[in-house]
Amino acid sequence: RRANLAALRDLPAVTRDGVSIELMINAGLREDVAALDLTGARGIGLFRTEFQFLVSATLPQRERQQRLYRDVLDAAGDRPVIFRTVDIGGDKALPYMNVDENALEENPAMGWRALRLALDREGLLKVQARALMEAAAGRTLHVMFPMVSEPWEYEAARSLFIGQRAWLASRGKKLPAAIRYGAMLEVPGLVETLDLMLPHLDFLSIGTNDLTQFLFAADRAHPRLAERYDWLSPTVMRYLARVVKLVEGSKVTLGVCGEMAGRPLEAMALLGLGIDRLSITPAGVGPAKAMIRSLNLAALRQDMPAILARPAANPRSQYQAWAEANGV
Ligand code: PEP
Ligand code: MG
Repeated sequence: RRANLAALRDLPAVTRDGVSIELMINAGLREDVAALDLTGARGIGLFRTEFQFLVSATLPQRERQQRLYRDVLDAAGDRPVIFRTVDIGGDKALPYMNVDENALEENPAMGWRALRLALDREGLLKVQARALMEAAAGRTLHVMFPMVSEPWEYEAARSLFIGQRAWLASRGKKLPAAIRYGAMLEVPGLVETLDLMLPHLDFLSIGTNDLTQFLFAADRAHPRLAERYDWLSPTVMRYLARVVKLVEGSKVTLGVCGEMAGRPLEAMALLGLGIDRLSITPAGVGPAKAMIRSLNLAALRQDMPAILARPAANPRSQYQAWAEANGV
């Protein structure tokens, strides 16, 4: 089995009926980039920039951020890297940041974190914007904003980046050849205004870890709740089907970067919904590729409406049965 997975590394992630799937990895450290070669993944679909902030004793200055981003881009070569701006605050409070409002938070996951914090601490986001743009000089920069709840937050963050780009240009700095902007969909309410954001968006990445905790109002870290709600439940699957439909026909590329996508059966279900871009933990790439290469996607897509319509006490069993019946 291990030998099989190693051999899979150099084979394309293409379904039995010829549909190409973009398999990427989640990362957060310089060292993680080595997993690109080990897994044969297409790129880094989620680079969690907050790791550097979390392991530092002091706020990482621009030079240090820039060095990390450049090292990551150099190691990735021509494979794309999607940098997510800092998702700190809430339960990831940093001792060196003066965030005493944080001490009072009773629900940190729903608190002053991620883009909410970054828009209030503009200096922090400006420094990160410059570090990313200078690190990506001459290349395409992919930047993604976490925990967007309403379109104006995305617009404000994107405007800040555009402003910093102009500032760097005015000082004669080398700039990225292009910048692609994306948002994470992890606050369920964003779906109601997604249509307003699509025209200004290059890509959208669904973060199923936070999304499902908010969809079910169930703490993702609570041991009694972690296994209670299934990612394959109609609640999650119908929600995602709705997102796919909303994005369809726009120029926005849609992917999933939460842990859900790292499990083969869940990944199969996501492909069935029409999602063709998954960013997962490196250990999941081999099993995901094995699943993809054994899948007749057209057949699954044909059966998806029936699966979604049929309520089941154990929704997982429906996908399992389909996989078994169809040689996945
Ligand atoms: C998510 O919420 O699904 C996600 C990918 O982000 P994180 O796990 O870093 O919150
Ligand atoms: Mg998240």
